[in-house]
Amino acid sequence: MKKKKIYCPNCQKAYLPTDQVVLNRAHTVLHMDCPDKSNQPYIDEGTFEEIVKKYSFFDNRLLK
Ligand SMILES: [Zn+2]
Repeated sequence: MKKKKIYCPNCQKAYLPTDQVVLNRAHTVLHMDCPDKSNQPYIDEGTFEEIVKKYSFFDNRLLK
């Protein structure tokens, strides 16, 4: 079973484990440097790898 990658909705790039990202209240990951149009408050921030490992609703296979 192949897992889909997560892409930034703003710049359309797939996240790299080292990318600095924010997680908003809608559980959407966004690049820290990309303009956010969703207006959702942020609940966490860190590298993509940190966020994926911290929250169980993300699949760890996203990091491969
Ligand atoms: Zn982006």
